Amino acid sequence: MIFGGPVRKQISKDIESELFKKQKGRCNYCGRKMSISYFHVDHKTPVSRDGKESIGNYQLLCAPCNGRKGDLTDGEFRRLYHLTSSRQAKAPPSKVIPQSYFIKISKEIAAKKAKKRRTQDSWPLF
Ligand SMILES: [Zn+2]
Repeated sequence: MIFGGPVRKQISKDIESELFKKQKGRCNYCGRKMSISYFHVDHKTPVSRDGKESIGNYQLLCAPCNGRKGDLTDGEFRRLYHLTSSRQAKAPPSKVIPQSYFIKISKEIAAKKAKKRRTQDSWPLF
């Protein structure tokens, strides 16, 4: 690579369709059913955090779930959003979890962070 940096392995269509079959065409977090071309291949443990390029570290997510997960690990995401732990979740949820559920928790997390910041900022005044 001309610019250096980590070389991202191209994930093959075969791997994608294997994941698609394994997940029964559903997003691994919200259970939404879509056609394969709409899915994003996510690294359960992000590459930035030493996640491996292997099928065991891949999962298919819908765009909103993938965006929300960001740099979190699978375990962290599941804990934050109170999803079935990865050890227990053998398949995506069979009943779709609405995006509003995730959005509500995202807002709560953001509010908690903001409150914490405010508390820290005002600390020297007391
Ligand atoms: Zn999803």
